[in-house]
Amino acid sequence: MKCPRCGSMDDRVIDSRTAKEGEATRRRRECAECGNRFTTYEYVERSFPVVVKNDGRREPFDRNKLERGIGRACEKRPVSAQDIRDAVDRVIQRMTDEFPDEVTVTFIGETVMQLLHELDQVAYVRFASVYRQFKDVSQFKEELDRLLKN
Ligand SMILES: [Zn+2]
Repeated sequence: MKCPRCGSMDDRVIDSRTAKEGEATRRRRECAECGNRFTTYEYVERSFPVVVKNDGRREPFDRNKLERGIGRACEKRPVSAQDIRDAVDRVIQRMTDEFPDEVTVTFIGETVMQLLHELDQVAYVRFASVYRQFKDVSQFKEELDRLLKN
């Protein structure tokens, strides 16, 4: 690893440990030229499928966007930030397992709805109303009725 002080490529690792709850390896390095000590982090490279929108356009998967969408649905509900992050992780897990190359917006939306259904009914209805774009009140009521029956 190139030394940030002198630019030498000659260094040795003096300490190596797991960090960020096992998501990373943190290494302390010492430059053999100038003795400068610096830290590097090593992460698993994650690749996401491309998201196919309803009109056929494709866009890169955006974790933050998904987290915001779920977060909005859960506003002022008894759902913790950790619950939301877990939900995002589960959506990512499912889509990368089933559709590693290309995943439809529909699949992501339906998966989120399933998870919210287990997590919080109000958040579920909120998300469904945005996602399904209920055309009128009766459609919205149908969904509610179905929910109340279960
Ligand atoms: Zn150096």
